[in-house]
Amino acid sequence: MLGLMQQRELLISSFLDYAEAYHPTVEVVSRLRDGALHRIGWGGIAARARKLAKALQRFGLRRGDRVATLAWNTHRHLELFFGVTGSGIVLHTVNPRLFADQLRYILNHADSSVLCFDVEFAPLVADLAPHLPSVHTYVALGHRDELPDHPLPNLVAYEDLLDAEDADFAWPRFDENSASSLCYTSGTTGNPKGVLYSHRSTVLHTLSLMAVDTMAISARETILPCAPLFHVNCWGIPYAAAGTGAKLVLPGSRLDGASLWELLRDEGVTFAAAVPTVWLTLFAWMEQQPGLDPAALKLRRVLSGGTAVPRLVIETLRDRFGATLQQAWGMTELSPLGTVGNLTPRHEALDAEAQMALRLKQGRTIYGIELRVVDEAGTPLPRDGSSVGLVQARGPWVLSGYFKGVGGQAVDADGWFGTGDVGTLDADGFLTITDRAKDVVKSGGEWISSIELENLAVGHPAVREAAVIAARHPRWQERPLLLVTCKDGRSVTRTELLAFLEPKVAKWWLPDDVICVDALPHTATGKVQKAQLRRDYADWLERG
Ligand code: ADP
Repeated sequence: MLGLMQQRELLISSFLDYAEAYHPTVEVVSRLRDGALHRIGWGGIAARARKLAKALQRFGLRRGDRVATLAWNTHRHLELFFGVTGSGIVLHTVNPRLFADQLRYILNHADSSVLCFDVEFAPLVADLAPHLPSVHTYVALGHRDELPDHPLPNLVAYEDLLDAEDADFAWPRFDENSASSLCYTSGTTGNPKGVLYSHRSTVLHTLSLMAVDTMAISARETILPCAPLFHVNCWGIPYAAAGTGAKLVLPGSRLDGASLWELLRDEGVTFAAAVPTVWLTLFAWMEQQPGLDPAALKLRRVLSGGTAVPRLVIETLRDRFGATLQQAWGMTELSPLGTVGNLTPRHEALDAEAQMALRLKQGRTIYGIELRVVDEAGTPLPRDGSSVGLVQARGPWVLSGYFKGVGGQAVDADGWFGTGDVGTLDADGFLTITDRAKDVVKSGGEWISSIELENLAVGHPAVREAAVIAARHPRWQERPLLLVTCKDGRSVTRTELLAFLEPKVAKWWLPDDVICVDALPHTATGKVQKAQLRRDYADWLERG
């Protein structure tokens, strides 16, 4: 027997309708290119998103067409999040920091018709344009007097487009399984792969962000998302902010310490989301500013992830700001959230060190995502906090396949997606990532965690950055090789570093060699390019 409830489609436009109806004056604050702050209410964002939808119609765009963006976190980019998706058009957010050939590949693969860009990216867009046959219109996100001089076909100013329309427009209703947005993985492994979200997956993921044991986004929060809007839809925060009427503070391109401090203090930010580097940059700036009182800020919660969060970040936020750090784990293929580091009452009764051990984990499994750890044969391993295996995920906001089938089959017959991460799960659902599958060091059949060795190595006062790779070994197949860069004016020898690590790890985990290098290669998203290191150093131990 079927239930007798309404089949109302789950559409992204419903979040904006809610914000407009009940929170029209709650502010969205944006840092513009010249550093000035721009203010508008959710009501204004909604009206402008509707004007945008009319302008897109005038371009002749149809449902399922793609509109690409190259833009920082500002109100205009936010309006595109709603105006494009609400029209049934697919928003394709592109990371402007990618290398030129990746940008060309991604934009062509997505086949976007319109490219919207922040004016400062005009030189980049002008270089790309001759290689983008599908793009027929270029929209500069600003006023007419900001239009770049670069020759671009059909170049229009965003504000002119909106000025030409009125806001008399109702969001269309369509199948909730329609595509809403498209993000590409950053291509740490091979060509970037497109993940195509749907309205349904986005709405369900967004509802999860509002849950207290996930991100607890609510009308009580003032949110500073430093995570870029082009990175997995800013972890879904813009949609949850609209759906709850939270105040949003968008930092534009300025993530330096002084700019962030000003926003935290003057806008009364209560919740911020940023990768660990952003916090380390803020702390370094604070060191140079005598008399700052971070405890006087309203900041209470900080969400961080994308990479393991260092203990120093968690401790500084706790001790100096009075803020709790919640570590999250996920990836483009998971929309992105899979876990968030919330403690249960039982954990809150533990002493500070035991709580710290939990906060250093990658987070606790959230409702809506199934996680499991399997061995190499695909057999599930116990959730005992110590059985290390491949992490798999399943759920309504996990992908079912990559855009246009690139990268082959993404999930197995039972719907499990292999995340490419290696780790453990415990009985409470806490996940610990020990490696990416391709980076793990398999020494004589046992696995050695490259991430754990790297975290320990950067604990040495002279080390700035560390990378551990598997080097071929005649007896053990693979052994860990440690590469480090040193802080300015510092140096460290192989013997010193091994002596530093020795009391901290099992003897067989100790790297077979340590190499000090001037720099490590990075991807456009700042992750160490281990594939290149493996190419350069995999035979290091065989060289004699
Ligand atoms: P890409 O896979 O292209 O690098 P993503 O931004 O989707 O891009 O990165 C997802 C990966 O980042 C995860 O598979 C995982 O390896 C890593 N990651 C995410 N969150 C964490 C975290 N809290 N701790 C450690 N690693 C993390």
